[in-house]
Order: sequence, then structure tokens, then C-alpha cells
Amino acid sequence: MSSDAGILIVGAGECGARAALSLRESGYRQAITLIGDEIHLPYERPPLSKQILLDATEPKLPAVLSDIVLAEHAIRHIGGASADAIDTSGKQLFFSDGRALPYDKLLLATGAVPRRLPNAPVSSRIVYLRTIDDALALRALVRADMHVAVLGGGFIGLEVAASARTRGAKITVIESQERILKRGVPEPIAETITALHQGNGVVVRCGVAVLGLEADEQGVDISLSDGDTISADMLVVGIGAQPRTELAARAGLAIDNGVAVSERLETSVHDIYAAGDCCSFPHPLYGGRRLRLEAWRNAQDQGILAAANLMGAARIYQAVPYFWSDQFDHTLQIAGLVDEGRTVVRRDLGDGALILFHLDDQQRLVAASGVGPGNKIAKDIKLSEMLIARRVIPPTEVLAGNANLKSLLPRAA
Ligand code: FAD
Ligand code: NAP
Repeated sequence: MSSDAGILIVGAGECGARAALSLRESGYRQAITLIGDEIHLPYERPPLSKQILLDATEPKLPAVLSDIVLAEHAIRHIGGASADAIDTSGKQLFFSDGRALPYDKLLLATGAVPRRLPNAPVSSRIVYLRTIDDALALRALVRADMHVAVLGGGFIGLEVAASARTRGAKITVIESQERILKRGVPEPIAETITALHQGNGVVVRCGVAVLGLEADEQGVDISLSDGDTISADMLVVGIGAQPRTELAARAGLAIDNGVAVSERLETSVHDIYAAGDCCSFPHPLYGGRRLRLEAWRNAQDQGILAAANLMGAARIYQAVPYFWSDQFDHTLQIAGLVDEGRTVVRRDLGDGALILFHLDDQQRLVAASGVGPGNKIAKDIKLSEMLIARRVIPPTEVLAGNANLKSLLPRAA
């Protein structure tokens, strides 16, 4: 039974904001309250490691929802408020300041936070990047005459390295694995990215761990496992993210590498849903394997699907996983899940651009990964995404050649 309490959304990031908007656009007429512990209006995170760091002029908040849109859609945004506890039987949400709000249905879109480096000294020269405030602080700190060390050859590390290098800083990337982007990005793509960085003057050091760290307000000394010490003006740490599950865990919701949800994004407690970076869900395209994705498109799509299901639609989430990363003048894109050990077919597109097609045991296309300048790979990745969704078994010679992938799409009946 519904009351006037309406829907509460905890987490005013991409996912929560899209869910709120979608609820209203789909005709939901009761109260929608979007709660975020950041003071800002909901905003996009992808520009934080790219345009925000590069802009010569003072950057503006890359807002997802403006005050005007919030008002037009009668969405109440409560910023700077941390949701602390849920009374699941009384259907109330409690804030850290003691306030409480009732709900009919609740969506958790609490996202993720950077993994912290254990035992690191406290210094303004050791920085993490997740929020607009982090990005503005980093932007203010980086100067062309600086040496910026980057710990972690993942997406944060490499995007910050590219942006800071473009601004003229000297960059050293430190990665403990034998290569960058070890998880989820195939080796030939990582090799292209490594060469791109090196070609732009970034020093990439793989297979070295950090043994010691000393820092003050001027800089950082990093002792490495190969005996070397790097002295830098600052250290950007990008060593992964962890889902924010503390609210859900305290309320007794099932947790499994994130808030565990069904394929309809329902948690283990009735009338509570979870979506975006904070949740793990079984994916029908991958045999029901439980995934947790940390990607913008997933946050958006799950927010929209959760909104539909909060209104009773009972839809299954089965979008093909997708993400992109912009570094220097190149874009990397992956559709589907890249696993080791799959058959891979390569297509070269010229200008150093390449696409790898990943096939499962039945030769079904399950992923496509690519890298190249500008939008060189965009069309093939988009078409691959459609082929993956339609579970197509493509002839490998078509994949390897340069025929239009559109020819592989099943014709509409
Ligand atoms: P979040 O964006 O993390 O939002 C969750 C919000 O909930 C946060 O504001 C958090 O403070 C708030 N919150 C949490 N708990 C509570 C609570 N108890 N009470 C109140 N509020 C709470 N993806 C790509 O595909 N391509 C890219 O190029 C790309 N670039 C990125 C660059 C950066 C710097 C970062 C950080 C991420 C990037 N991503 C990219 C990933 C993408 O931005 C995320 O997947 C997406 O933001 C996840 O959205 P979300 O709403 O699930 O979580
Ligand atoms: P990430 O992509 O998981 O990369 C972290 C990297 O750091 C991995 O290569 C990891 O190796 C390495 N690492 C872990 N511990 C280390 C240590 N102690 N020393 C050196 N290296 C270490 O995570 P991220 O780059 O930190 O990104 C954080 C979040 O932002 C994620 O949610 C990410 O999706 C998001 N983001 C996404 C994009 C994008 O999609 N374009 C861009 C920016 C940020 P192991 O594999 O061994 O752990």
C-alpha cells in the first residue's frame, strides 16, 4: 500500500539523479526525494579526470540536474545530508543529524569511494579523486613545473596522468602489476595505451610496489620495491574503488561485493532497490554471473530501470556492460566482459586503432574492446554491442576483415 511518503533515493550521483528524473518522466505523481551527502547538485564524474583538469578557465559544475530541472520536476533535493540508518519494518530513513523521513519505496544509489592506501602519512600532497571538490583541489595543485607521481595504472591513474601531462607536468605512473590495466582490459589494448603515454613523455613503471612513503606539505618521497626512490611534488592515488554498502549492511540487507540485488535490482528487503556502482547483480547475458560495474552508462541505465521497477514494471536488467576512457587524443572503449582465455579476433582500423573481438566456447561474441584516436573505433564498438546483446555467432573472417559489422545483425522479422 502506498502512502504520501513517496520514494526516497539515497545517493545523488548519476544513478540517483537519473532515477529521480525518470520516475517523474514516467508519470510517478507522489513525492520524490533525492538525498546526497555532497553539498552540490547532482553532477557527472567522468569530466573530473579529464576536462575539469584541462580547462584553462575556472570550470563549472558538470551538473546532471539543475535547480530549474529539479523544480520543474518537483524533485526535492536534500544536499549535505548523510543517511545513517534504515528502519525497514517501520519504513523510515534516519539521517546522521537525527532527522527521519518515511518512505513507501527506497532506492540505494550510494556509489563507491576510492580505496585508501594503508598507513599513508597525512599530507595535502597525497590525493584521491572521486568528487568535484577533489578535482578542483587537484586542478589547483598541478603546475607545469611539477613532478606528479601516480600510483595505480588503472583508469583514474591514467586519465589523471594524461591530463596533468597535457598541462606540462612531469609524470611517473607506478603500477604493481606487470602491466597497466591488468583487470578487464586485454594486453594489446594496454600496450597501445602504454605506448601512447610513453610517446607523450609519461614514465610508466610496472611491476614495482611501494615499500615506503614519506610526505610533508611540499612533496612526497616514494620508496619502491626495486630499491629506487621517487621524489615528487605530489602523489595521486588511484588503486581502485569500494562500494558504499555501510547503510545497507547496517539495515541487514544482503551484501555480496556490493549491495546484492536481483536481476530486477531488488535488494533482499521488500520495497528497497539498489543500483549503480554500489550494487552487484546477476547478469543474464553472462549465465547469471554476479557483476558489480563501476561505469557511467551502467549507473545511468540502472537508475532508469530501477525507476521503472519502483513503479511496478518488474523489468530485468540485461544491458551489455560498456565503458570508455579518454586519454590524450585516444579513446578506449569496451562493450561486454573481457575475460582471459577467450578466443580473440583482431581488426586493425589504421592510424594505430584496433578492435579485439572476444568469443566464448560456442564462438558467440561476448565482448569487443578497442582503442584508437578520436572516434575511430566508436561505430564498430556500438555495432558489437548490438551483436553481443543479440547473442550473435559471427564468422571470424568478417570480424577480422574490414566489412561493415552491420551486415552481421539479424534482420528484423
Ligand atoms: P556515485 O557517482 O558515486 O554517486 C553516489 C553518491 O551517493 C555520492 O555523491 C555519495 O557521496 C552519495 N552517498 C553515498 N552514501 C550516502 C549516504 N549514506 N547518504 C547520502 N549520500 C550518500 N565511467 C565511465 O564509463 N567512463 C568514464 O570516463 C568515467 N570517468 C570517471 C572519472 C572519475 C574521476 C570517476 C570518479 C569516475 C568515472 N567513471 C567513468 C565512473 C562513473 O562516474 C561512475 O560509475 C558513476 O559515477 C557511478 O554513479 P553512482 O550514482 O552509482 O555513484
Ligand atoms: P581501477 O581501474 O580498478 O584501477 C586501480 C589500479 O591500481 C589497478 O591497476 C590496480 O591493480 C592498481 N593497484 C591496486 N593497488 C595498488 C597498489 N597498492 N599499488 C599500485 N597499484 C595498485 O580503479 P581506479 O583507476 O582507482 O578507479 C576508481 C574508480 O573510478 C573506479 O570505479 C573506476 O571505474 C572509476 N573511473 C572510471 C573511469 C573510466 O571508466 N574511464 C575513469 C576514471 C575513474 P590490481 O588490479 O592488482 O588491483
